[in-house]
Amino acid sequence: MRIRKLFKFEAAHIVRNCSSVRCRQNIHGHSFKVELVLKSGTLDNAGMVMDFGLLKGRVSAFFDTFDHSYIIWSEDKSGLVRFICNENERWVSLPFSPSAENLAIFFHVIVQGILNNTVPVNGQGGVKVHSVRVHETDTGWAETELDDTPLFEEMASMAVNCTFSPEIMAENKEWKETWECLTNNPMSLTSPQENRTFGPENITR
Ligand SMILES: [Zn+2]
Repeated sequence: MRIRKLFKFEAAHIVRNCSSVRCRQNIHGHSFKVELVLKSGTLDNAGMVMDFGLLKGRVSAFFDTFDHSYIIWSEDKSGLVRFICNENERWVSLPFSPSAENLAIFFHVIVQGILNNTVPVNGQGGVKVHSVRVHETDTGWAETELDDTPLFEEMASMAVNCTFSPEIMAENKEWKETWECLTNNPMSLTSPQENRTFGPENITR
């Protein structure tokens, strides 16, 4: 059984090395849409894969970090990186090119990490991220698949080197706490944890 939740944010980037001159040479923005699909072979006591209320907390906090942000590739031209970090409050620095494909893999790994650290409540089974589809425009998207495992493992090792701007962390305490937990236990990005940190207090519905 699968369930889908849509998240949206507005963000800017440059995708260096891509074939489109406009995309690789110019700061430009997108109204990103992210379709998160979760799957489970069992249903909880309410007959659900997982209460969407559980996603409203840390998963929403994660996607909100990108809203009105500049998504930096940390290897981009040093002058640009310096300018964005000094003159722009909301930025997320990634050690990989911020293409829709890489963002989809990154989102997949981080949301799976959140689930791996979340205490099951209400009889919820082994919920996994099935896919993440990132729409940059109305006409194009990139989507992860479960057999992208090598890409997830590679991403998990890079993800801990992402940086969220001080202003984002100051505004988004829930994400700050979540990110500290994930980076302190990077194994939890790829495998379910015995000692789970995130409790049911995040159900807001
Ligand atoms: Zn773009």
